[in-house]
Amino acid sequence: MRAAKDLLRDMVMAAEKTVAFTGAGISTECGIPDFRSPGGLWTKNQPIQFDEFVASRAARDEAWRRKFAMEDKFRAARPGRGHRALARLVQQGKLSAVITQNIDNLHQRAGLPADRVIELHGNATRARCLTCAKPYERERVQEWLDAGVAVPVCDPPCGGLIKPHTIMFGEAMPRDALEEAERRARASDLFVVVGSSLVVYPAAYMPLHAKDAGAALAIVNLTETPHDDQADVLVRGSAAGVLTAVVDRLQPRPVAP
Ligand code: NAD
Repeated sequence: MRAAKDLLRDMVMAAEKTVAFTGAGISTECGIPDFRSPGGLWTKNQPIQFDEFVASRAARDEAWRRKFAMEDKFRAARPGRGHRALARLVQQGKLSAVITQNIDNLHQRAGLPADRVIELHGNATRARCLTCAKPYERERVQEWLDAGVAVPVCDPPCGGLIKPHTIMFGEAMPRDALEEAERRARASDLFVVVGSSLVVYPAAYMPLHAKDAGAALAIVNLTETPHDDQADVLVRGSAAGVLTAVVDRLQPRPVAP
């Protein structure tokens, strides 16, 4: 029987519109823990809900404190082999877009053009005002936090609450990104999930949209997901190892003289 990753390589070769869908599992090898693996972030902290952030000063303090605590991990992380493999697939014209649940900016840092990355849950390198939507770069907010400002607020005259540009539980998803992701999923002929538990909705509908519209579905993950029974190919393995093997074997073989 053919190995699942060989099958995946053949599917990528044959497909004309492959879309990847990534989760925290593609970044664990870069030193950023996921949520649900043993030792993952949720074993340490319960998530803060959006309405708590808006209503409670203590919740905002805690949200920024956590962001501050995670900052070193995010800053130190470099794109891994999985991110680089996906960027190479885009360069080779074998991948049309990456829909990601990740907030770590590592796809872009691996060389993926921003317009090929659809971020469903925001991006930790940015913040924005909840009142006027003014964007703030992480560095600027970081300077305030470093200077002892517990809860940053927007420039005058606005004064609105600034919130990390990562979507909290209970917060509306970015509508444009969600619509674009669904459109891309439905237009794909191969949809490849990489490193996601597929339990966070509405993001986890994306593979189902793709499947419903006729795409083949591949899932590359270390552990089971609730959509495994929908997959045309299931690869149990590390994102970096599997994607690198797929991309390396897509290279044209050298022709003997
Ligand atoms: P998750 O934590 O629910 O699931 C991660 C999955 O990846 C698990 O099923 C795990 O078995 C698998 N995995 C772990 N390491 C892997 C590896 N090396 N190769 C292949 N698979 C691996 O993450 P999720 O499905 O992305 O959803 C949780 C939410 O977490 C998302 O909304 C996302 O915004 C947020 N999150 C993001 C980051 C990040 O940006 N790096 C980190 C933590 C959480």
